[in-house]
Amino acid sequence: MARIERAAPNVLLFLIVAAVSGQTLSCTPADRERESQAPAEPKAKQAGESNQVGKQPDRAPADADATGPYSPVKARARDFYAPNSEDLGPDEMRLIACGTGMPTARPKQAASCWLLELGNGDKFIFDIGTGSAERVAALQIPYNYLDKVFLSHLHTDHFGDLDALFVGGALAGRQKPLRVWGPSAETPERGTKYALDHLRKALTWDLDGRQGLTDPRGYHLDVTEFDYMGMNAVIYQENGVTIRSFPAIHSLDGPVSFVVEWNGFKFVFGGDTYPNKWYAKYAKGADLAIHECFIAVPNLIEKFKFTPQSALAVGTQIHTAPEAFGKVMSIIKPRMAVAYHFFKDFDTTASINDRIRTTYDGPLSLSIDYMVWNITRDEIRVRMAIVDEDVWPPPATEKPQLPDQSKRIPYSPEISGGKLDMKKVLQPVYDEINKQYGTQEKQE
Ligand SMILES: [Zn+2]
Ligand SMILES: [Zn+2]
Repeated sequence: MARIERAAPNVLLFLIVAAVSGQTLSCTPADRERESQAPAEPKAKQAGESNQVGKQPDRAPADADATGPYSPVKARARDFYAPNSEDLGPDEMRLIACGTGMPTARPKQAASCWLLELGNGDKFIFDIGTGSAERVAALQIPYNYLDKVFLSHLHTDHFGDLDALFVGGALAGRQKPLRVWGPSAETPERGTKYALDHLRKALTWDLDGRQGLTDPRGYHLDVTEFDYMGMNAVIYQENGVTIRSFPAIHSLDGPVSFVVEWNGFKFVFGGDTYPNKWYAKYAKGADLAIHECFIAVPNLIEKFKFTPQSALAVGTQIHTAPEAFGKVMSIIKPRMAVAYHFFKDFDTTASINDRIRTTYDGPLSLSIDYMVWNITRDEIRVRMAIVDEDVWPPPATEKPQLPDQSKRIPYSPEISGGKLDMKKVLQPVYDEINKQYGTQEKQE
């Protein structure tokens, strides 16, 4: 009954429109049905359906009419960030949380990692903690732009995915060395250079096996170790961007925090620390200030199963407790304070917030992976990124260099002799590719 009531005015409207526009009234009902469907057909088309012009859907929706689209529900502006869909303005910075969690892995939160993009095209990664490389990949940025990493310290939750970015990035289009900046320590063995020299050694089998197969230029680490004691000392200055470091107090001597200055903006990334006077001084007035904010002590005991002694020692003395995070932010008064380094769940967020609010009442983001901040002079817009889990590497920005196949390290005769005869099975693959791409490749 309802359907008839809706249909009746449509027929009347059609007659009026047809009469006014001078159309003949002799067209058949089938003609009218086709006309009514024509504008909406592209929307109704499903994957796999024919694209053929003039093909009609089997059946029209019940409320189709001749005056507009089928559905009265219109698309609205959405308030999320879709990677690879927004250009940055010349006076704009974008920060994306690619890891906000802990050394203990969990699907919801990778460990510390922050991608800062500037309006001049520069991009910087601060920390690359365990699990974060896949978050970075989800942003669909060509790997040639992801060649600068700054490490706050050498805990695995702050550099544990460096190998994934190093090797995976080279494989997917970073045609130059990965540049890494990190602090020295009290002894050379605790410094960044030692750690990354040995990481490179640990990857000997991996890297040797890649020789002669793909573009070789990305498989190099370019490490700059700077003095962890530097007080707001410049460690990077290129293309109008200055990055400084100052010490943090955490576990052993060595950890640092970073200040980025560009185009009148000030961004601060704080590594793990007990609240310290240098952060209070050098982070003052930042446009955006990130500082660790550890799991609240009761949650450490109840949910993380720490003993009360360990929870107090780790949660208040090695790290920054939420109450102390608030105190720091009250001193530096940033345009936006960003807290990280806690498991952010439905039953932990409120207590973190309440504890911070005992000491701080300014702008605050309790971060989670894929949170996005767009920073301009006038506003700081906070959203979440919605990412595509089926992401593939974006196209490389340069043509790949052909590898020198003579560099390939051969198998031993024993291992090589174990190959099953697949020549007939694989030859069609060679034929297919040689035909399509005009190559003349032959099987080994
Ligand atoms: Zn740490
Ligand atoms: Zn940490």
